[in-house]
Amino acid sequence: MKPTLFIIIPCYNEEQVLPVTSSMFLNKVKYLCETGKINNNSRILFVNDGSRDKTWNIIESLSEEDEHYIGISQSRNRGHQNAVLAGLMEAKDKCDITISIDCDGQDDIDAMDQMVDAYLDGCEVVYGVRSRRDTDTFFKRFTAEGFYKVLNWMGAEVVYNHADYRLISSKVLQEFANFKEVNIFLRGMIPLVGFKSTSVFYERKERMAGESHYPLKKMLVLAFDGITSLSVKPIRMITGLGIVIALLSFLGVIWAVIGQFTGHTVSGWASTVCIICFMGGIQLLCLGVIGEYIGKIYLETKARPRYIISERTWEKQGDKDNADEF
Ligand code: UDP
Ligand code: MG
Repeated sequence: MKPTLFIIIPCYNEEQVLPVTSSMFLNKVKYLCETGKINNNSRILFVNDGSRDKTWNIIESLSEEDEHYIGISQSRNRGHQNAVLAGLMEAKDKCDITISIDCDGQDDIDAMDQMVDAYLDGCEVVYGVRSRRDTDTFFKRFTAEGFYKVLNWMGAEVVYNHADYRLISSKVLQEFANFKEVNIFLRGMIPLVGFKSTSVFYERKERMAGESHYPLKKMLVLAFDGITSLSVKPIRMITGLGIVIALLSFLGVIWAVIGQFTGHTVSGWASTVCIICFMGGIQLLCLGVIGEYIGKIYLETKARPRYIISERTWEKQGDKDNADEF
């Protein structure tokens, strides 16, 4: 039987981009239906991430235009990762496969054909990997590639140059639903679920309209979140650093005692102050990293909902027939 595909698209303040890209997604779904790879119950699921502009209105009118468009709205802005998660969890019981993709047209939607083929060949997860970043500025490319290297070096295993463009089968999503953590970093968590996976390569294009929501600052936050959510290597590095510094200071003590006996009194006040300041700085840094983990534990123990869906296009008031559709 042909699988049902749900394309999950997070949208935050995308009123400029949505009218341009929505028809691309629809054409792709229709094309995949025509070629017999998926069935006609497939849908394009927009996740409005608490946008402040007309994004939700656009999604609502799209859903009236064509039955393939549906949408859910988060009760407030929770960030890209939570928006994708909300879409995946909403879709997991309604379809056989999901493909998550950004709504700005940067990721080549033609790679979806290969993704679905790979699924039909037995893969449960298919990662979309950027083969080139020629259209990104040098700075964006440099910081983005550094991001993956630092992540891997710090013990958060991610597929190099893969963001959140991927196919996941509902079988994997059912297992993934048991990962209850609230600090989520999808591209590091999905590989942990396992199952047969593969990658397809595509060229990253320029944003069709609007502006990126991932400047350097947000990317650093995402990297730090990714590392501390998936790995305890930074804490181990701190332990290692502590041992090295303790050894060095022990050698220093021996050196000072020998100096005392041989009559060389140390005259440096500045060097002492430097060392105290340096040590103070290292200690604060280490406390900060440990504090970050404690903060994460605090958030996890509260186990707050990871997303709250306030509206669904098929559950509008006075439109009860549609509510039964899913
Ligand atoms: N996005 C979101 N919530 C946010 C920020 C971004 O849902 O708080 C969505 C956004 O609408 C887009 C995707 O995440 O579909 C990727 O964002 P963007 O294109 O700005 O990032 P970049 O591609 O520049 O890294
Ligand atoms: Mg983008």
